[in-house]
Amino acid sequence: MTQPRAVVIGGGIGGLTAAAALHRHGWSVTVLERSAALEPVGAGIALAPNAQRALDVIGAGDAVRAMSAWQAGGGLRLPGGRWLSRTTSDAAAERFGGPVVIAHRAALVDLLLSRLPAGSVRTGAAGEITDPGAPDRPARVTVTAADAGPGGRAGAGGSTGPDAASAAPDAVVRPAGGGAYPATLDAELVVAADGIHSAARSTLFPATPGPRYAGFTAWRFVVPEPEQPFEPHETWGRGLVWGTVPLHDGRVYVFATAAVPAGGRAADDERAELLRRFGGWHHPVPALLAAVRPGDILRNDVYAAAAALPAYHRGRVALVGDAAHPMTPNLGQGGCQAVEDAVVLALLTARATPDSPAGGPGGGPAGTAAPGGAAPDGTVHALAAYTEARLDRTMEVVRRSGRIGRLTTWSSAPVCALRTALFTAVNKLGSQVALRSLDGIADWSPPSPPYADRPRNPPAVRGRRDVKDRE
Ligand SMILES: Cc1cc2nc3c(=O)[nH]c(=O)nc-3n(C[C@H](O)[C@H](O)[C@H](O)COP(=O)(O)OP(=O)(O)OC[C@H]3O[C@@H](n4cnc5c(N)ncnc54)[C@H](O)[C@@H]3O)c2cc1C
Repeated sequence: MTQPRAVVIGGGIGGLTAAAALHRHGWSVTVLERSAALEPVGAGIALAPNAQRALDVIGAGDAVRAMSAWQAGGGLRLPGGRWLSRTTSDAAAERFGGPVVIAHRAALVDLLLSRLPAGSVRTGAAGEITDPGAPDRPARVTVTAADAGPGGRAGAGGSTGPDAASAAPDAVVRPAGGGAYPATLDAELVVAADGIHSAARSTLFPATPGPRYAGFTAWRFVVPEPEQPFEPHETWGRGLVWGTVPLHDGRVYVFATAAVPAGGRAADDERAELLRRFGGWHHPVPALLAAVRPGDILRNDVYAAAAALPAYHRGRVALVGDAAHPMTPNLGQGGCQAVEDAVVLALLTARATPDSPAGGPGGGPAGTAAPGGAAPDGTVHALAAYTEARLDRTMEVVRRSGRIGRLTTWSSAPVCALRTALFTAVNKLGSQVALRSLDGIADWSPPSPPYADRPRNPPAVRGRRDVKDRE
């Protein structure tokens, strides 16, 4: 059998991890990223032990663990500074088999890219699923130059081409950044990792409603560590949250949220907006606001899945990450679950294609449409197993994260006083309580044996059956 071809739509954390894991299992992988460059937005990202163990599958877990900077205490505070609950990195490590690492997104993307053969990522190239494929025929993705604008698709010879859906197999795409790519890719597997507003999801499951506004907006930035020491914290006010955590390179990652209507932007600038809302909060908040430049602050409204999809696959297409299960950031698990999806998908499809040259990758990227299509293989069957393994687990994380998100949007004074009283009471039961929200999530291990020699509380893949069993 020739080397199986995989096309990945989206070069975010989910897409790059999937590409690296599939490459490791012998697939010829092409990643399509519509942005002109892989410039990761978002500053920091928490990678819990479940994600670190998933990254072990592609040999990147230890590099992430080396980015660990949280060595001491931290916890939940009130805007005036009072601690509501405290925990330590050791307690987290003991409970979940490792500390939660806060990595810079750029470092994570570099690490994932280093696991891919040169030339596998095509930037400035938007992918669209024009045929999800079937057991006896490959899936088809058409590619357009993302920066070309409407009607700007380059056809054969560089002239304006036909609609992507009907692009001739020999047509090419010429992104503004250079290069020339085939406008049609056929593949035995397509990974749709095109993020929260996934067009692939709407194409495959048009009847399922898209993500819904979670009721709050989020700001993120990275600045050098303040001079005065501080302990990592998340501080909850009325409809407001501020978090400060150290990165391993001497900088700190800051996130903040506010319960506001969707679509708002500061009339002046986002730093001024943060100063209005958080300027009077405890150290290090004012120092961090003094250090950041307005242009370095990211702001995104938060959306989460309104309903579960009927499946995470159709034909030869698998949805991965936010495309499948957008969630609020309150558990710091959106990216972690995307990484889990990616490695589970690669493990299941590798098992389904025993003739694929696993362990012997190195072929070129997926090519143009091959006449005759793909021979039947086990990929379609493996994708049903992927849905089985991932859908209930990820939707449980969506729900848990959403519940915490809703708590942070409370803004009435009496209700927030009640919330504080509740946290205080719960904290009296012990600091481990603060970590409970990640039970059954951060202790996950991948279903295959890279960790067999280092067992730590390992369930197999927690799939639908496991979730039902717990109910
Ligand atoms: C404020 C905030 C804080 C967060 N903190 C954390 C955290 O601490 N830990 C954590 O694990 N998660 C966190 N998350 C969630 C995390 O950022 C996401 O879950 C994760 O980035 C999803 O990765 P992805 O690859 O699925 O999607 P994305 O990262 O959105 O990547 C999708 C990619 O697809 C590209 N694309 C879209 N359409 C096309 C197309 N047609 N063709 C080609 N390319 C296309 C996009 O340009 C993009 O690069 C946070 C989210 C927010 C909003």
